[in-house]
Amino acid sequence: MPAEAVDVVVIGMGPGGEDAATRLAKAGLAVVGVEGRLVGGECPYYACVPTKIMVRAAGALAEARRVNGLAGSATVQPNWDPVAARIRDEATDDWDDTVAVERFEKAGGAFVRGWGRISAPGEVTVATDAGDRVFRANKAIVLNPGTAPAVPPLRGLAGTPYWTNREAVTATEVPDSLIVLGGGPVGVEFAQIFARFGAKVTVVVPRRLLPQDEPEAGELLAKVFEAEGITVRTGVRGTGVSHDGGAFALELDGGETLRAQQLLIATGRRTDFAALGIGAIGLDESAKSIAVNEHMRAADGVWVIGDVAGHGAFTHMSMYQSRIAVRDILGEPGAPADYRAVPRVTFTDPEIGAVGLTEEQARAAGLTVRTGITDLTTSTRGWIHKVGNAGFIKLVEDADRGVLVGATSAGPDGGEVLGALVVAVHAQVPTATLREMIYAYPTFHRAIESALDALG
Ligand SMILES: Cc1cc2nc3c(=O)[nH]c(=O)nc-3n(C[C@H](O)[C@H](O)[C@H](O)COP(=O)(O)OP(=O)(O)OC[C@H]3O[C@@H](n4cnc5c(N)ncnc54)[C@H](O)[C@@H]3O)c2cc1C
Repeated sequence: MPAEAVDVVVIGMGPGGEDAATRLAKAGLAVVGVEGRLVGGECPYYACVPTKIMVRAAGALAEARRVNGLAGSATVQPNWDPVAARIRDEATDDWDDTVAVERFEKAGGAFVRGWGRISAPGEVTVATDAGDRVFRANKAIVLNPGTAPAVPPLRGLAGTPYWTNREAVTATEVPDSLIVLGGGPVGVEFAQIFARFGAKVTVVVPRRLLPQDEPEAGELLAKVFEAEGITVRTGVRGTGVSHDGGAFALELDGGETLRAQQLLIATGRRTDFAALGIGAIGLDESAKSIAVNEHMRAADGVWVIGDVAGHGAFTHMSMYQSRIAVRDILGEPGAPADYRAVPRVTFTDPEIGAVGLTEEQARAAGLTVRTGITDLTTSTRGWIHKVGNAGFIKLVEDADRGVLVGATSAGPDGGEVLGALVVAVHAQVPTATLREMIYAYPTFHRAIESALDALG
């Protein structure tokens, strides 16, 4: 089969892939964008956007309940229907990517629906419904295949109607009870959402909630969850699953069995590099991520962006890396990738925003670490806010240089308060300068000043 010659082939049109393919097409290159499922990737259909629609709705319920004791009395009747409808209609356009495909084609790109793999250096073969198509990419191949839900090899799990994030966002009803396996950002967001809509939720985690974050974040969330009636089982693992047609039973390593109507698997993400054919260019197909340089190059003529580049599985990371890869492909000058100030937000209530290194990571990096932490409930705004005011700000300083290398902002709008701390870490603003700033009274972000005082 003769190969079709183009400048660039983008395999996987996640947030970064779509962005890169569009920018490169707008720059005048002949770009083929290949997508096996939906243009836009996981984020708008099954991840960030629908879950944040759910978070918003669950938050509205929680706020309505907080009227009691603050401003009157309210009885709230949760109703899942508008949430399911909004996800279907607004966030995902009914799981249809026609608009996104049209946008890319309008920018000058050629779209191919199918599964692409590198079949030889500089060559991509795409399996489409109408058969294979082969492309020769004269300038670049960009890989943005993203990740899929990882399902652990639990005895009895295969073949049961368990949920991953993909089924959870398409739920048309709230289950009476739900076991969430995994306590990372995905697990805790879903746990709180479904609990606030009336499900009896149990979270099962081998270590603690939010194991990638500061321990104070997981402890705070565990306390809030307990107060909201969510059971958190830390230090336990699931060993086996059964489903009797109506309910799940999850066996734990201690011998105990938990039962619930639904089981959500939120135990991480997986990749399939063999299907992507990266062995054809000498890359390790069994690796967890693909090693890239600071311009996102993985091999001669191959750029890799997004979750699989191994620098954080976030939409903003995929888009950030897209810009860097596009500049490099076009031969334009620009700053190389810099991961010192990567922000991440877990959209629970309280929101957990974090940037840079945790205290443990900073110590492991050999820095002279000073930390300062302040409890948001004791801040003026926290005291005024009352119910729903749980949170803290924690700063991690490289004491030798007098700059912040990490920070966590947990609380109401913790992800928004984080903005100031991201600037501080990214721009290496001296803590002496941060201490001289004026923090508006009475805001949550004013607690940054107290956390700076606590640094000593
Ligand atoms: C429940 C949940 C909530 C999340 N919430 C947030 C959030 O609030 N904020 C945030 O920043 N991040 C969030 N994330 C993470 C975010 O979804 C991802 O980091 C983001 O989608 C970027 O991924 P990506 O660009 O690597 O590719 P993806 O979005 O995974 O897209 C990759 C695309 O490539 C396609 N593909 C794969 N292989 C091939 C192939 N061989 N040929 C053709 N097409 C292929 C796939 O079909 C897919 O459409 C969340 C994730 C989950 C699971």
